[in-house]
Amino acid sequence: MKKDWILIGGIVLLSLLLWGLLHGCSTTGETVQVTLDGAVFGTYSLNEPQTVFLPHHTLKIENQQVSVIKSDCVGQDCVRALPISKGNQLILCLPYRLSVQVLSKSDSTDTVTY
Ligand SMILES: [Zn+2]
Repeated sequence: MKKDWILIGGIVLLSLLLWGLLHGCSTTGETVQVTLDGAVFGTYSLNEPQTVFLPHHTLKIENQQVSVIKSDCVGQDCVRALPISKGNQLILCLPYRLSVQVLSKSDSTDTVTY
């Protein structure tokens, strides 16, 4: 009998994991949060095409994707990074401690406080 419960528990856990995985993959991001040197620099809507000028970096939001189009950092990894559009995807620029993160709708409701 004990084995049955373990099996059921395992199946429930697995389906939860799978659901979370599918759910996570299907959510499109809503806002872009830019963090500079550990502090939030600003948040921008992915639905509004715009160019965002940051110290050392220029971001472009287009087609509900965000990418770094210009940077004066060494390496230029952030410029080469593919555009991101989904919740919790991230572009990092280590030399300038910049992070560009897409927040999905469910996440942003928790973190946005007015
Ligand atoms: Zn960079």
